[in-house]
Formats: sequence, structure tokens, C-alpha cells
Amino acid sequence: MRYAILADIHSNLAAFQAVLEDLKKRGGAEEIWCLGDVVGYGPDPHECIQLLRQHRHLCVAGNHDWAAIGNIDTSYFNPEAAAACHWTAERLTREDIVYLHSLPLTLCQGDFTLVHGSPREPVWEYILSTESALDNFAYFDTRFCFIGHSHAPLVFELDQDNLCQLHHLPSELPLKQGRNRLVINCGGVGQPRDGNPRASYAILDIEEGLLHHYRVEYDISLTQQKMMDSDLPLSLANRLSVGW
Ligand code: ZN
Repeated sequence: MRYAILADIHSNLAAFQAVLEDLKKRGGAEEIWCLGDVVGYGPDPHECIQLLRQHRHLCVAGNHDWAAIGNIDTSYFNPEAAAACHWTAERLTREDIVYLHSLPLTLCQGDFTLVHGSPREPVWEYILSTESALDNFAYFDTRFCFIGHSHAPLVFELDQDNLCQLHHLPSELPLKQGRNRLVINCGGVGQPRDGNPRASYAILDIEEGLLHHYRVEYDISLTQQKMMDSDLPLSLANRLSVGW
């Protein structure tokens, strides 16, 4: 079985389409595992939900998904994110809202836990340090956990002596070797934040025991133009050029 691991699409249809094209070129996947924040920031919330739902997929809820349907207060957001959230909420169809309400916070699939932020606080917590990762290994039972939220392709590895190490996500991550547990972030599709503006995603190949990480070029200016035409905050459009 092959799974496409996608996170933080953030209403960026051009990036999402480019990732799906790339996935197809590489032989496709049986299922998409989406780690939340399908909407928020970008110009095409409805279209992104619609496109995701055209594929066999699993998806967990992210903070922006919840904010767009009023499950959480946007006062926790910075002003630009809050403005984009209100804009998003007005553009969701009834069906989109029902879909976002249906998303669970956590899913378990075999050896893998799926969550947006962290196993401890699925919607809010960012795992960016070995300290927070170390705490979070106690909050899930599977060997591996896929996360999103920080939009940074990182791997946290817990060894048998309970020591946690941080690595950049390599282009090929072996999952069969050893018994170390991993928290893995495959980066963001629609708003990368690691200084690389290309869309980030991965393909999990269970038989190979490998996670393949890919970066995909997409038409950033197309998304930016739509954002400007929609009067979304300019800073949110500009950051896409630099991957931050
Ligand atoms: Zn996000």
C-alpha cells in the first residue's frame, strides 16, 4: 500500500493540484492521509475541500479548519490569520461546513497515528523542539506519528534509551530498521515555512518500508494574484514567495 501524506493545504489550490500531479507521475497512492488545515490563509477553501473529497482519503482537523467553522475563537490567531479565517468562513458551502465538522482530531492506522498539531494537544501544540517531542511520545501508542501544523519537514526520533533527536526530513526515510519511534512532519503543501517555497509532501510505501519526501514547484504567482483579488492580507500572499 502507498499513502500520500499531505498537510496544511491552506486553501492553496495551485499547490494542491501540483502535488496531486506529482503524485500521479510517481505512480499514485491508494489513499491520501491529510493532517489538517485544509483551509485558512489561501484563496480557494471550497475548491480545496472539494478536490480532497474527490480522492479516497482520511483527514484530521486542524486549528484553521476548526476556526473556519466557529469551533475555536479567532482571538487566538494573529490579525492576518484571523482576517483570512473570517474571509474563509464566508465562502464555505453548507456541505463544506458539515465536512469540516466531521473531521476527527486523531486517527490511528496500523503503526501510524495521525494528528494536526501534537498527540497531546491535537489542534494547538507545535512540535518544534526535542523537549516537546519527548513529552508527546507518551501521548500515542503507535511506533510512528505523522503531524502537520508547523509546516516544517522534520523528524523527531526517540531511541531505546529515551533520548530524542531532531533531524531534517530526508528525501528517503527508512521505517523498517530498528525500533526507534518517530514523530514525522512532511512539511506544508500550501504554505511551506522552511525557507523553501515549493510545496512539500511525502509518499509512504508500506512494502518498501520507506517514506519518500518530495518538493514540488507550483504557480505561486497564480495563488498570490487570487489572494490580492480577494483582498486577503498582502503579507499572507508575499510569504509564499519565500516559503515562510
Ligand atoms: Zn497550518
